[in-house]
Amino acid sequence: MKYRCPNCDHVYDEAVGEPHEGFPAGTLWQQIPDDWACPGCAVRDKVDFEPVAEAA
Ligand SMILES: [Zn+2]
Repeated sequence: MKYRCPNCDHVYDEAVGEPHEGFPAGTLWQQIPDDWACPGCAVRDKVDFEPVAEAA
């Protein structure tokens, strides 16, 4: 699954993770802390991210 920041369109991809933030590839969204701030804009938090619908 991928999740997008509604503010800056930064996308968190579970398959890629966020290595610079300490989340290796394969880190599930559920494992991200609720107070994690968007690394793209630092304005939005995890709870603001929206699931990205992927084409089948
Ligand atoms: Zn953002």
